Amino acid sequence: MTANRDGGMSTRAIHSQSLKDAHGSPNIPIYNTTTFAFNSTADVLDVVEGRKDGPLYTRYGLNPSIFALEETLANLEGAEMAWAFCSGMAAETALFLTHGRDGIICIGDAYGGTLELLSTQLPLLGIRTHLILGNELDRLETLLTGGSKLVFFETPTNPTMELFDIRTIAAKAHEYGAKVAIDNTFASPVNQRPLELGADFVVHSATKYLGGHSDLTAGSLMGSRDLLMPVWNWRKNLGLMIAPEIAALLSRSLRTLVVRVRQQNATAQAVAEAMARHPKVTRVFYPGLPEFPGHALARDQMFGFGGMLTIEVAGDGADATQAADQLKLFTLAPSLGGAESLVTQPCTTTHHGLPPAERARRGISDAMLRLSIGLEDVDDLIADLELALQ
Ligand SMILES: *Cc1c(COP(=O)(O)O)cnc(C)c1O
Repeated sequence: MTANRDGGMSTRAIHSQSLKDAHGSPNIPIYNTTTFAFNSTADVLDVVEGRKDGPLYTRYGLNPSIFALEETLANLEGAEMAWAFCSGMAAETALFLTHGRDGIICIGDAYGGTLELLSTQLPLLGIRTHLILGNELDRLETLLTGGSKLVFFETPTNPTMELFDIRTIAAKAHEYGAKVAIDNTFASPVNQRPLELGADFVVHSATKYLGGHSDLTAGSLMGSRDLLMPVWNWRKNLGLMIAPEIAALLSRSLRTLVVRVRQQNATAQAVAEAMARHPKVTRVFYPGLPEFPGHALARDQMFGFGGMLTIEVAGDGADATQAADQLKLFTLAPSLGGAESLVTQPCTTTHHGLPPAERARRGISDAMLRLSIGLEDVDDLIADLELALQ
């Protein structure tokens, strides 16, 4: 669904949907139906042959609950169009199969599922994939010369919060006729809007900040109409559609996205500063700290520094495990973006599958703890961390 683009972020989060419910409900109801009836075959053909946008069949995405969600999603990212999916991985799969068949270059660390899809499953289909780290960016041009037509990356990355310059990479990729897709899950459109910086696609795990309550699994792909239309048949025929119930729940969540994320930014900044002063913490990875290597770039391309940070505990992996197990307010769970703060030790969860040497190559130490800052009071969160670190 396409979007109008009026107002600031908070206004867009609440007033994007142009559909109007017959009874005046401010929310589009859950159209809990698989199909929609028509008055005549001529009416059916109008929708089937594309002369009219309208409800038809839910797996196609032609359901008003899904239309309403997609309008808001597009509007928040400043995209011409957005498609909703049943998960973040579904959105990535549809993107890669539609626009990555000439080869995909992935820069830096990425979500575990993404790395597995790129390194294991897609090559089985004959799709060439190239994974380079942030310190190997000088290889990008050679790989682009080789014909890869899709460059994919996250910024900031998990768990070291490495930042990549979206404008510069997009300009380089475009020189070679390649498209650029950013996984914007960590930043959310409140903190970063890659399309405004020259990227061609944004992909989201809506399971995280967009959903914001750790109670739904969904995804989205945003971009121009020209680039998104070819994705439609892949989504439809691979069956990657979001359920209307989840679409309505996600629409509900988007109404509070801006206040949630801005609060999480502020709390994460205070937690990062407290951790940077703490004697039992050797390093803090947070873009909002002036001494952090990515700070200047974050100021330049982000509107906020985000709710995710990583600390490195003094000692070894066992010391970090002990601290994580002592935390009371931080829940030990490998996700992010919810109202409750979460902690995870990357070497035991998100990066457990990598051999220790590969983790080291990626700058991920066993003593790291990744924190997803929730909506609790900041003093309580800092007190919880201080007690656990003792
Ligand atoms: C969780 C996550 C994904 C995958 O999303 P699902 O909704 O779990 O499929 C992709 N990218 C990032 C950055 C994530 O955090």
